[in-house]
Amino acid sequence: PDLIAGIARTRLKTIAKREAERFAKAQPKTRAALAGGADAYLDAVPMHWMKDWPMPFPMLVETARGARLTDIDGNEVDDFCLGDTGSMFGHSPEPVAKAIRKQARNGLTYMLPTEAALEAGRLLTERFGEFHWQIATTATDANRFAIRVARAVTGKPKVLVFHGCYHGTVDDAMVELANGKTVTRPGLTGQVADLTKVAACAEFNDLDSVEAALKTGEIAAILTEPVMTNSCMVLPEPGFHDGLRKLATKYGALLIIDETHTISSGLGGYTGVHGLDPDIFVVGKCVAGGMPTAVWGLRPKLAKAYIRYNAGRASGHSGMGTTLSANPMQFACLRATLAEVMTKATYDHMEKGAERLYSGLKRVIEAHGAPWHVVRVGARVEFICAPGPLKNGTEAGAAHMPEVEATLHTALLNRGCLIAPFHNMMLVSPATKKRQIDRLIAAFDAILSELFA
Ligand code: PMP
Repeated sequence: PDLIAGIARTRLKTIAKREAERFAKAQPKTRAALAGGADAYLDAVPMHWMKDWPMPFPMLVETARGARLTDIDGNEVDDFCLGDTGSMFGHSPEPVAKAIRKQARNGLTYMLPTEAALEAGRLLTERFGEFHWQIATTATDANRFAIRVARAVTGKPKVLVFHGCYHGTVDDAMVELANGKTVTRPGLTGQVADLTKVAACAEFNDLDSVEAALKTGEIAAILTEPVMTNSCMVLPEPGFHDGLRKLATKYGALLIIDETHTISSGLGGYTGVHGLDPDIFVVGKCVAGGMPTAVWGLRPKLAKAYIRYNAGRASGHSGMGTTLSANPMQFACLRATLAEVMTKATYDHMEKGAERLYSGLKRVIEAHGAPWHVVRVGARVEFICAPGPLKNGTEAGAAHMPEVEATLHTALLNRGCLIAPFHNMMLVSPATKKRQIDRLIAAFDAILSELFA
């Protein structure tokens, strides 16, 4: 029979069609509102990623509280996407909402720090370790600026990334491997520069490929997530991070750890939980409870080298920073998140819930004999419609089953559970209830019962 991810293709098609129709039927007000009001936007969406949701048209959200969204048709859904990590600590965490209300009376942006900024700086160091911090607005920008500093200090041209990685819309990371060679990713819009002059690509979990790149002497920094989270999830093999650290030091490259997704690991992110030792630490998305904010920090020795680098130069446009960054609203939210939201108790709840979700999904997969697997990094859980574990970005790319995933996502949403598009990712927030997790497991079971009947 013609199978995809173990499912008969004809059966998948029938179910996909039925679920898309069911979705459209439950949103009459949304459909009417979109028909009357979306045209002002390019291609009818305010940001083109919103086209990547698997349902036939996006939900129009009316309210979001804790781990729950309500659309304008009154449909309530349990939110396991949580803004693809931006709201990992739940929608509008109370301390953050309170900080916003207070700051709203005192100005929104003025290019000067506040006392909350000073406290946030202390809390960043307390939470993530000894780094000298800068505030950006997106993790994309934080990574771009980190790469700039790495090139400045090392005088080397290239950033080394892993095949299948994602670090935001950072041009320099937009390369991949084709037949073992670094090439510019073909999907980039309007790309005219040859990115292979500024970037090199290796395979995750393959220290030999990393060393081969470093041996060229051209690598300013290795930029990596602790776990590859942006394709199908790939865990680091024992010794991989240790090896990266040693190789970076040996060849005079910096190690940039991007914790934007792995902040789900626990207090201090994967770095804190597993004792990694980056030269530059980056985290964005949920770090200020959902207020657009990212931070990047340099180890003291590197900070000194950077200051020395600058001392000898004429000042001018640095290519770093943006006008609205490090604004007082960000500091208010960053301080509130670090002090009152990102706590051990919070992570304990997330961890416990995520373990429940992980084992529940695993049980369902096994019960149906699906050739699939589940991976978890703290509060972050992902089912993968292929056998595992995956070793690198090439395997992760091949494990994606877009048709199966789209059908599953829509079917889950029709049963009241929203999971992240692009991948099969689910986050357990401090606000996520046990019964929401159990409902998701039950919905997953119901769908697999049909798919694997
Ligand atoms: N780093 C990682 C690991 C990410 O997953 C992402 C976004 N998915 C980013 C950076 C960029 O974040 P943003 O889109 O908020 O700039």
